[in-house]
Amino acid sequence: MTAVTPDVFARLDSYVEKVRPEFEEKFAALVEIPTISMDPEHQADMPRGANLAAELMREAGASEVDVIPTDGNPVILGKFITDPSHPTVTIYNHMDVQPAQEPEWTREPFKFDKQGDRYFGRGTTDDKGPGMTALYGARYAIENGIPININLLWEMEEEIGSPSFDKFLKANAARAACDSIIVSDTEWIARGCPAIPYGLRGVQGLTVHLETAATDVHSGTAGGAARNPIAELGALVNDCMDVKTGRVKIPGFYKDVVPPTKKEIDSFLKSGFTVKHFKQALGLKKMRTEKAPEVLKRIFAMPTFEIHGLVGGYTGPGVKTVIPPRAELKITMRLVPKQKAEKIFKLVSKFIKSKIKDVVIKKEGSLEAYLGPFSGPLADAGRRAMKFAFGKDPAFTREGGSIGAVVTMEKYLKAPILFLGLSLPEHGYHAPNENFDWEQASGGIKMFAKYFDEISRMPRKK
Ligand SMILES: [Zn+2]
Repeated sequence: MTAVTPDVFARLDSYVEKVRPEFEEKFAALVEIPTISMDPEHQADMPRGANLAAELMREAGASEVDVIPTDGNPVILGKFITDPSHPTVTIYNHMDVQPAQEPEWTREPFKFDKQGDRYFGRGTTDDKGPGMTALYGARYAIENGIPININLLWEMEEEIGSPSFDKFLKANAARAACDSIIVSDTEWIARGCPAIPYGLRGVQGLTVHLETAATDVHSGTAGGAARNPIAELGALVNDCMDVKTGRVKIPGFYKDVVPPTKKEIDSFLKSGFTVKHFKQALGLKKMRTEKAPEVLKRIFAMPTFEIHGLVGGYTGPGVKTVIPPRAELKITMRLVPKQKAEKIFKLVSKFIKSKIKDVVIKKEGSLEAYLGPFSGPLADAGRRAMKFAFGKDPAFTREGGSIGAVVTMEKYLKAPILFLGLSLPEHGYHAPNENFDWEQASGGIKMFAKYFDEISRMPRKK
């Protein structure tokens, strides 16, 4: 296979400037359809958004575009096919967005507002902007003869946990078959510091219910003899974890955890992360630890045991002297690669039952963790593409959260996944006045074009 000549990339800067007005016009149209997957009132906007997305793929030169129905919202699959013998890459983005009801919006969330190089509107950075950027990168690669096939896979239920994606991909795996996958839905930690996350944490939720009486009883009547479910669940928390350090005390909880290596932590530190900025951005006062390597290790690569609520008793003003009859504890655990959600749920449930015999435990949602390539040819290709486009080597980081679609794609497409995200903290993911910007978009188009060229020369998946 022949390598692409360097003058293909000599034309890239002028291409990016030339397509800018068109990019902005189409991006605006996409942002102005309020594809809020969470809101039943916007149900009709979902197919409208899907159809526009499909039209944009066709206009960019995709050879096959399908809006594929699912049990929920459709998935759009656009294929740029050059030759079946060339490697194929599938790029995942999502076209649904968060609601935009925050009072802090200083503009119409679904009116595309261009302010210099910034583009404001719900969904601009999460994830319509990165999707448009991938589309223009794909178009450039195809128009300039880079020997690669590109599938654009755009979901419309990411913000509600991708409920239809597993069944969809199981049925359509052959159509989206590929040698490697890109997910472009992640954030850098600081502008000017490109980041490639290579791992995600999983999650397992549960609620613990304890009922010790039929109704409220007066503490002057039964106090001292009656059990108190809130106090018992509070003590249970202390049995499960060291509440000061966050260390989980349940035997076996850390058994499958592979702590990050020194090399990985050094790499996290190159992301531009500072404890000061982190605390400021999130409004955190004093943290459990304030050492940067330890904070990064904990938020990216260690499991958690988190209490989200202890519900029960009297919550009005002042004190009411009743003993509550029941209480509920709301827990989730963030899990790291190799910790399996089901196994952890069983382990934790058994431990809780051993402490309080008559609790009722309910299992809530779960997602498995993911670990992708930290080194090797794909990671190297990503490194070169980021450096080419943004002038700096990327930091390989992880994400503390979960993306359900990632684990699903790994399962059915059986291909390695690289995260080439473009969003920045100041873009306001899920926040009011969400925005994207031309620096990230223009750099992103170049990054994708370069990455396609890099992987076009790699051996295909067996
Ligand atoms: Zn997203």
